[in-house]
Amino acid sequence: MPLIDTVRAYLSEPEPTVSECRHCGTTVDPGVTRCPECDGEAIARYHVA
Ligand SMILES: [Zn+2]
Repeated sequence: MPLIDTVRAYLSEPEPTVSECRHCGTTVDPGVTRCPECDGEAIARYHVA
């Protein structure tokens, strides 16, 4: 694979993060700051990579 294609593929990757509620463990969408399940505001973010 040409180098430019590798770079392009890398740049188009979404942020490899998972967001989940610290209270109940519900996985929420990135950017969500309040848990829809328990209404908690403690959202933890993990880098998956
Ligand atoms: Zn929760």
